[in-house]
Amino acid sequence: MSVTASPSLIKELKHFGLTDATQCFHCGNCTGVCPLSTEDNPFPRKLVRYAQLGLKDKIIESPEPWLCYYCGECSDRCPRGADPGETMMAMRRFLTASYDWTGFARKFYTSEAFEIAAVAIVGALVALALIIFGNWDGAAAAAKKTGQAVQLNTVWPNHAIEIGDLIMAAVLTIFLLSNVWRCVKITMGDMLTKIPFSFYIWKGVDLLINVITQKQFAKCEDRWQWVVHLLIMTGYSSIFLMVVVGIRWFQRDTVIDPDWPTVSLIMTIVGYYGTAAILYGTTYALIGRIRKSKAPYKNSHSTDWMFLILLQATTLTGILVHVFIYLHLAMATYVTYIIHLAVAIPMLVLEVPFAKWAHLAYRPVVLFLTRVKKDYAEAIASLGH
Ligand code: SF4
Ligand code: SF4
Repeated sequence: MSVTASPSLIKELKHFGLTDATQCFHCGNCTGVCPLSTEDNPFPRKLVRYAQLGLKDKIIESPEPWLCYYCGECSDRCPRGADPGETMMAMRRFLTASYDWTGFARKFYTSEAFEIAAVAIVGALVALALIIFGNWDGAAAAAKKTGQAVQLNTVWPNHAIEIGDLIMAAVLTIFLLSNVWRCVKITMGDMLTKIPFSFYIWKGVDLLINVITQKQFAKCEDRWQWVVHLLIMTGYSSIFLMVVVGIRWFQRDTVIDPDWPTVSLIMTIVGYYGTAAILYGTTYALIGRIRKSKAPYKNSHSTDWMFLILLQATTLTGILVHVFIYLHLAMATYVTYIIHLAVAIPMLVLEVPFAKWAHLAYRPVVLFLTRVKKDYAEAIASLGH
């Protein structure tokens, strides 16, 4: 099989955040210390080498960037300051763009102006739609009739928001799954159809456990980084599920709904957990990036900042909406709710299928595929004996 080298690959990868990979002199220290590198899938040195040689197709077919959780141990031990951890991060961005058939992810990662404009345009459209379609007169009349100042569910009925949520979720799923399918085909190559279906089924449980626990990350020395990752992931997933699937119970004019006391209490508790988890995780990461406190936070791509800022702004405005409902401040609730959705929706529609959040799908899927491949290879080897 012929391999084509791309002389401009390093330059291209720099747009995705590659920093010091050219400094590498291949001592192998990084692969030696990486707690997640294995005999079958050694990294990160191999990927640094691919970048230096311009082996673009090799990188695109590689599962290894998704097997790295960016603990930073390799970067700390690199004698040349080549930051192999950041190389793996840049490659995950590059792979996300390579899997995406729309070309949107590439633009989002390689142009700060495009990234900011996309977020601003989607946010402005959301705010405009909420202002135009809000039932303002109905809310004023309902407030007068009931004596309850906040009428969030009259201005924007939760069943209408639910329909919008489900349409958005369906569109995001189509984009994300079509890109995941490309990732599967690229990563597996010919093996995809050669491996019997039963191997995929058996490893399905593993996939689920990895999604929920992110247990691979726990093998790294810096266990706190795993905890922070888990907090952001579980906090985000629980809020996402409540907003998309349970909005009719989640969006209320009162903190506990008398018609649904148990469900609304559960929603409140899960909401508090999700909010606290995201707030802690994003604050920790933001402070870390500002201070460059450890290897994973030393180099920040513009999309890292955008991701954290949108996530934190969504959480803070969500808290404020909740506080204003408590305080019966109608206009403050409505204005904050508009801002809340104007930051939350761009984060969802742009980050989930095309940017940072896509790794929530790619990483466990690729981890699963590498295990299926390994099991299959072992089964074939045992048949040979
Ligand atoms: S430790 Fe640094 S110099 Fe050594 S192989 Fe890894 S990236 Fe290259
Ligand atoms: S950042 Fe951590 S997991 Fe990733 S390659 Fe380096 S040592 Fe391995």
